[in-house]
Amino acid sequence: MRHGSIPGAHGRVRPLTLYGDPVLHAAAGEVTDFGPELATLVEDMFATMYAAQGVGLAANQVGEPLRVFVYDCPDDEDVRHVGHVVNPRLVEVDGVVVRGPEGCLSLPGLEAGTERHDHAVVEGFTMTGEPVTVHGTGFFARCLQHECDHLEGTVYAERVTGWRYRRLRRQVEKASWRRRP
Ligand SMILES: [Zn+2]
Repeated sequence: MRHGSIPGAHGRVRPLTLYGDPVLHAAAGEVTDFGPELATLVEDMFATMYAAQGVGLAANQVGEPLRVFVYDCPDDEDVRHVGHVVNPRLVEVDGVVVRGPEGCLSLPGLEAGTERHDHAVVEGFTMTGEPVTVHGTGFFARCLQHECDHLEGTVYAERVTGWRYRRLRRQVEKASWRRRP
């Protein structure tokens, strides 16, 4: 993303990795090189997220096992939040636990009620290495928890419980995109 430009405008849309791809089920590695390749990755991630009409995207969803996510996500007050975080750490999660509909670009077309805290704080860095803190409430807090989970190798389906989980599993089995061994 160049200064003053629209995020993703110069990016390349990359193929999305899908549920079952090993890169989604392993913890991503710390970013140590804050050079131009990282800027390109962030730019490509915005382009990919917008092309897929998502509200957040983690780097392992485009096959890069690195701790980076991007977001363009509303909260429950319809305030829009746009940004990226490198080497994020979920430093606070609190508030009431809300079960709400959650989906993921790596499980296209599916959604399931998932429990998340109503408030989350993420600390990390920008692509140029500046420290950044992101506060989220409501749906945006859900997004921050979802993206931090991705970088630990956890997909939201693994947070769904009971009949909701069983229904989601059946839907995954039937999905046209499902990876078959
Ligand atoms: Zn996701």
